[in-house]
Amino acid sequence: MTLARVLDFRQDEHGDWLAVLSCGHTQHLRHQPPWQNRAWVLDATQRNAQRGKPFRCGWCETEHDANEASTERSQDDLNKER
Ligand SMILES: [Zn+2]
Repeated sequence: MTLARVLDFRQDEHGDWLAVLSCGHTQHLRHQPPWQNRAWVLDATQRNAQRGKPFRCGWCETEHDANEASTERSQDDLNKER
């Protein structure tokens, strides 16, 4: 599996930070203690330190899983409770 890299960071309309990844996806990096503790994302210096670092993209992992195992995809459909 190929890891994406962090290209840049930006904020959405709510002020939540997003990582812009080399795979073309974006990932929210919310700082919502005590559930999600990412105080570093609020600090420009620490954000800059993360640029170019490998990042495990949840979107790419989901696509990968869906392609690999069709049984998992059908389970997802069941969970939607249409
Ligand atoms: Zn991705």
